Amino acid sequence: MGKAEVKLIREDGLRHDGRRPDEMRPVRMEIGVLHNSDGSALVSYGRTTVLAAVYGPREPPQRFMILPDRALLRVRYHMAPFSTSERKSPAPSRREIELSKVIREAFEDIVLTHLYPRTAIDVFIEVLQADGGTRTVAVTAASLALADAGIPMKALVAGVAVGKVEGVLVLDVDELEDGSGEADLPIAGAPDIGKITLFQLNGVLTDEELKAGVDMAWKTIQRLVEMEKEVLRSKYMVEAR
Ligand code: ADP
Repeated sequence: MGKAEVKLIREDGLRHDGRRPDEMRPVRMEIGVLHNSDGSALVSYGRTTVLAAVYGPREPPQRFMILPDRALLRVRYHMAPFSTSERKSPAPSRREIELSKVIREAFEDIVLTHLYPRTAIDVFIEVLQADGGTRTVAVTAASLALADAGIPMKALVAGVAVGKVEGVLVLDVDELEDGSGEADLPIAGAPDIGKITLFQLNGVLTDEELKAGVDMAWKTIQRLVEMEKEVLRSKYMVEAR
């Protein structure tokens, strides 16, 4: 059966991969995976796997980048050429440039940049495997890597995308659902301070679906942030002993 013929919602109400509509893919979070960066994290939602590496606060590479009152936060989102089924060009695409900005904005009011004037904090995001939702997995990985680097933040951030496929709202859309569905709603934020920092809608939802979708995403983001705390606690509690 070709991809186009796959039923996204099966007769039994489950999704093409056997998940319930409100079920997340299996989540994996690991921190401190790289030696050379100040902080790092590897996060997967199912097959979508993203590595984040943080460097800084450090001297900006060029003087004109210096901000006298705060650190310059830079984010580079990149998809590895081997991350998709068809080889992706390694050169940064318009999509990657835009996503770098969107992900940076998800942290702009979160990272306490005023504590480090005249420095740069660099977040490198490398999508190792793409199967939908890379921007939201990237936000979760960046939050963990920033925390692993010891960068002070108002709160931890996480993200997840809700979609609509064959008329049903579904949590954590994969590439097939994103490509064939009626809507895709990636959301990220910091529940501990009640802030949504990334919110995008592609496609069409009714106002009721939008409310239900945001509710579904927000509850999941709260759970993801609790997982982040657990991962950070288990590394740093052990190291503190
Ligand atoms: P997100 O990854 O945040 O959902 P998009 O909606 O733009 O962002 O992309 C959906 C999915 O489409 C990606 O997760 C990835 O699996 C796939 N995709 C995106 N860009 C490319 C590309 N250049 N080549 C192949 N697949 C891609």
